[in-house]
Amino acid sequence: MIFRQLFEPQSSAFTYLIACDERREASLIDPVLETVDRDIQLLRDLGLKLSCTIETHIHADHVTGAGRLRAETGCKAAVPRESGADHVDLLVREGEPISVGNLRLEPRYTPGHTDDHHVYVLHSTDGPRVFTGDTLMIDGCGRTDFQNGDAATLYRSVHDKIFSLPEDTLVYPGHDYQGRRVSSVAQEKARNPRLGAGKTIDEFVAIMDGLNLPRPKKMDIAVPANRECGIVKSL
Ligand code: FE
Repeated sequence: MIFRQLFEPQSSAFTYLIACDERREASLIDPVLETVDRDIQLLRDLGLKLSCTIETHIHADHVTGAGRLRAETGCKAAVPRESGADHVDLLVREGEPISVGNLRLEPRYTPGHTDDHHVYVLHSTDGPRVFTGDTLMIDGCGRTDFQNGDAATLYRSVHDKIFSLPEDTLVYPGHDYQGRRVSSVAQEKARNPRLGAGKTIDEFVAIMDGLNLPRPKKMDIAVPANRECGIVKSL
């Protein structure tokens, strides 16, 4: 397997390149429009063909690179079925693994941050990894106050679909704002201040209700564009 964790500083967003080194096929989880050229150069440098882009959810803070990557490479755009997005080549559903060469990504439906969110589990010889998008972050989680988010639902998603994975599963989040890059299921269960360390669902809901976060700056551009796989109509 070939694996790269890539970072876009404006939105502090991670993109993950996951590729099969035998078949030379690659996927990009959560590509960002601003870093499409970097991603295409990386694919070239590694001698990989991009087979698909995969979204964890409809993002509110940045525009996906899926549309431009598809236009430039001919890849497929995979988006969760619940998003209702247009121009999708592959609708993601729990129970239907996504193949990337000889690798398999297992989507798990994890609503709560948004009502379309999926995380992706990768089982490989190096051990399990989960790409958690904005469902679970290192010592945190995504907000639950818009896009049909719901704190109690997010709590259940994390406990049922992520904390049930083997303890040594590496957790790769969709964002980090403090320079951290990777955690594990064991670590988040033990010390995530919102969701781990024995926090109850009621305690979690109270924490989320008290956050009072500002609206994301790009939300009015990003959400409609992402519902069309990253086609921006007005800037
Ligand atoms: Fe998000």
